[in-house]
Amino acid sequence: MTNVIKAPASSAAGRAAAKKELPEHFRAYKHVWVFVEQERGEVHPVSWELMGAGRRLADKLKVDLAAVVIGPEGEAARNAALQSFSYGANLVYLVADQVLADYRNEAYTKALTDLVNSYKPEILLLGATTLGRDLAGSVATTLLTGLTADCTELDVDSDGSLAATRPTFGGSLLCTIYTLNYRPQMATVRPRVMPMPECIARDPGRIILHSLDLIEADIVSKVLSFVPDRDSSISSLAYADVVVAGGLGLGSVENFELVRQLAAVLGAEHGCSRPLVQKGWVTSDRQIGQTGKTIRPKLYIAAGISGAIQHRVGVEGADLIIAINTDKNAPIFDFAHIGVVTDAVRLLPALAAAFQARLSPRLRDRVVSHDFRGAPQRRRGP
Ligand SMILES: Cc1cc2nc3c(=O)[nH]c(=O)nc-3n(C[C@H](O)[C@H](O)[C@H](O)COP(=O)(O)OP(=O)(O)OC[C@H]3O[C@@H](n4cnc5c(N)ncnc54)[C@H](O)[C@@H]3O)c2cc1C
Repeated sequence: MTNVIKAPASSAAGRAAAKKELPEHFRAYKHVWVFVEQERGEVHPVSWELMGAGRRLADKLKVDLAAVVIGPEGEAARNAALQSFSYGANLVYLVADQVLADYRNEAYTKALTDLVNSYKPEILLLGATTLGRDLAGSVATTLLTGLTADCTELDVDSDGSLAATRPTFGGSLLCTIYTLNYRPQMATVRPRVMPMPECIARDPGRIILHSLDLIEADIVSKVLSFVPDRDSSISSLAYADVVVAGGLGLGSVENFELVRQLAAVLGAEHGCSRPLVQKGWVTSDRQIGQTGKTIRPKLYIAAGISGAIQHRVGVEGADLIIAINTDKNAPIFDFAHIGVVTDAVRLLPALAAAFQARLSPRLRDRVVSHDFRGAPQRRRGP
């Protein structure tokens, strides 16, 4: 890197000492890019969350923020490109081709690596979704650059390097990883880790069309049919406004039903800590935390959950955390906004009954009650 300014802290001094000069051919790499993930016309919201993070990095570096849209020709790709401006992009790179209709690693890797090699971004961010993880890994290995996966914080340090922070050692420590001698610096971030930026109507900026030098016959994998995941619409935990979750403190799978009941009364999603998934009490799509979902609800009620660091990292973005625990020294009380030291098995039904009585008949009519074993059932109004 041309302008290494200083190494302020001792840890940074160690890092700076280890840093070699950025090779000449990487010095042209500038600007921050966000891959806008879209499938079947739907943009994944993590793309807009990353646009907010990318905007902050670009402003610090005084460079442009670009959105990268890859997909089939048509309105969906164009809409995604135009929407990117509303979330803060200065320009959009668009690769639209029919061979990109369904996600296939070879085609998308070629599209993205060709773009990087042509326009040379210094930072490239992708969502840590199933698609994003698959694509990021193959793009990083094709470009022979570094990739920091599942970041919880992104920043730019004093010499302009991307400081990508993520949990390590089973989540007990956070480490900040730098890609000092290669470009672009790549990172993935899971949905809901970054706040959603405001969507502000702006005049569209430049859209740079890039053609894909690939034909169907060049692609080994073929999509024979598309079968949507039967369960994919069941849990919208990550994007719920209210979440009620239970942990081992509930003592039995039967008591976990109390969590579901309170969630149903509040029109909330239910979640759990990891041991409940390991015991087979709750399905894995309901796990909250480092190896589960990250949530950012307005209200999070945690019952019988100790608040281990691996759980905490998944819920810290909640506006209001109410913890119910029998142990007044439980770690969850270190970060909960309201703590109730009591038996959750007794409090949960009392809360459900109290909320039920206070909810307006209109809201009660809108609340959906989930029967654990069957399809969701609409709760009847009074
Ligand atoms: C690599 C790795 C990844 C992990 N990822 C995750 C993850 O994504 N999500 C996650 O949650 N965990 C994760 N864990 C596990 C994590 O470290 C903890 O073990 C787990 O979160 C503890 O779950 P818990 O709070 O339900 O149980 P416990 O730690 O056993 O806590 C139970 C709590 O309930 C309280 N209690 C007991 N009885 C009652 C009662 N009647 N009413 C109210 N409170 C009561 C107790 O005081 C206690 O605080 C991970 C661990 C590792 C190593």
